[in-house]
Amino acid sequence: MRGNVIIIGAGFGGLSCAIRLASQGVQVTILERQQHVGGKLQQIERDGYHFDRGPSTITMPSTFRSVFDHAGVAMEDYVQLYELEPRTRNIFADGTVVDLSGNRGWMKEQIAAYSPEDAARYDAFMDESAALYAEANRHFLGKLLLSPSDKYNLQMLRSLLRVRPTVKLDKLLRSYFQHPHTLAMFGRYATYVGSSPYQSPSIFAMMGHVEAEVGIYGVKGGTYQLIEGMTRLAREKGVQIITGTEVRQIVVRNGKVAGVDTDQGFREADQVVANGDVLSVNRLLLAPEHRKEMSNARIRKYEPSISGFVTLAGVRRQYDALLHHTVFFPERYEPEFDHIFRDRKMPADPTIYICYSGYSEAGMAPAGASNLFILVNAPYLSDSWNWEQQTERYGAFVLEQLAARGITGLNESDVLIRYTPRDIERDTLAHQGSIYGISSNSVKQTFMRPGNRSKDVQGLWYVGGTTHPGGGTPIVTLSGQLVGEQLASEILR
Ligand SMILES: Cc1cc2nc3c(=O)[nH]c(=O)nc-3n(C[C@H](O)[C@H](O)[C@H](O)COP(=O)(O)OP(=O)(O)OC[C@H]3O[C@@H](n4cnc5c(N)ncnc54)[C@H](O)[C@@H]3O)c2cc1C
Repeated sequence: MRGNVIIIGAGFGGLSCAIRLASQGVQVTILERQQHVGGKLQQIERDGYHFDRGPSTITMPSTFRSVFDHAGVAMEDYVQLYELEPRTRNIFADGTVVDLSGNRGWMKEQIAAYSPEDAARYDAFMDESAALYAEANRHFLGKLLLSPSDKYNLQMLRSLLRVRPTVKLDKLLRSYFQHPHTLAMFGRYATYVGSSPYQSPSIFAMMGHVEAEVGIYGVKGGTYQLIEGMTRLAREKGVQIITGTEVRQIVVRNGKVAGVDTDQGFREADQVVANGDVLSVNRLLLAPEHRKEMSNARIRKYEPSISGFVTLAGVRRQYDALLHHTVFFPERYEPEFDHIFRDRKMPADPTIYICYSGYSEAGMAPAGASNLFILVNAPYLSDSWNWEQQTERYGAFVLEQLAARGITGLNESDVLIRYTPRDIERDTLAHQGSIYGISSNSVKQTFMRPGNRSKDVQGLWYVGGTTHPGGGTPIVTLSGQLVGEQLASEILR
């Protein structure tokens, strides 16, 4: 094995980077402060109920497959994905149901039931969505933008103009659709990158194509099996994974990485890859004199993405209304984003998402019972909302809202666990509890995220949601692989 790389963090970004490096003969150690690998994704077993706490909507399966392909193994020997059809059930406040589907005819029928005009524009929207996805794949998602010439060239400029970066997602949707249900259903894609449909660029309309045509996938045995599979592969490739060890400082000598100080002592390294949030890593692990480009003032300028308020409910009931993924929309969608990003308070009338993996697989809950992961979008942490005072009250409110929509009896759950943005920050050191790194609410934060190679410290790299290409499990898995490939080529040169 050549080189000596330390990766800080065993999330999707860190694990995928480690596998790519080790598969090419680079020596890698992962240091993870939590007791278990997985980062924001952890599994919880309680009284016969299985929960995956964290990401549940798995898209772009090829990004996970390529981790295994490049390591020369078959993904199916490590983890199995299955396609969900319908993808997601959307339930609106007036009782309208749209099961988002890969079947275009059925989609148009369902939309036509409340808006024949919107149904007539569905094909045109899906064509634009496919074109946006192709453009993003060609010029943005699949490459590192390390040097100014990678970012500022004619090809990139042309590509950027084609995706019309200054048009907001909601505005693009309004050029096709007019009914609030359709606008909310597709506007929600901005939240897949922790952002607002009214502020983020229209590029995220590509998620229409990604969900309907490429698909949403379940993971056999629960989403955490993706982490288990990647961890097993990493170990087989020789990666040393040490959990329960926190990096306290990145040690810099003469402007170059020398190693890391941990709560268990010093470890030497030629290169360090930080999988933790870029902003937290800089704030907490690098002395100010080593980060002129990422000063505290610069860090404060970034807007974090949304966070999440999670309830895990194990309940001795089953609900006909729920599929694997179900979204309950409020009467009006827009105020939620004012509450979150402007007021930094929990929404007064929230969109509530439920993942019920027991719908697809027996054994995730006792017979006749349900394992529900309930998620409400939350503001990143600030003085405007005090979770210590609000958790019980808001948690009870979410259950009341669900009861009003027919998901009753959650008060009598066998298992009821609440997990707040404060907990997310405490466990993963996510900057202000954000779950997708920085938001994509502006052109700059979408297309010019902090780069994957530190401008301040030679030998320091970043993978994960805050850096390029962006947040969400498939994209951070991509960032890990892109950095792994580049770093391996430099080490083995
Ligand atoms: C409730 C919730 C729901 C979500 N839903 C979805 C979804 O449906 N679909 C989707 O695609 N994405 C979803 N996401 C987002 C997704 O989880 C993240 O984009 C992704 O998991 C981030 O992976 P990562 O590798 O970038 O970082 P992380 O998962 O944050 O991993 C970073 C790791 O680094 C460790 N670390 C940090 N600092 C140190 C240190 N100093 N020393 C040692 N270790 C350190 C942390 O403990 C952590 O384990 C959700 C997230 C949450 C929390």
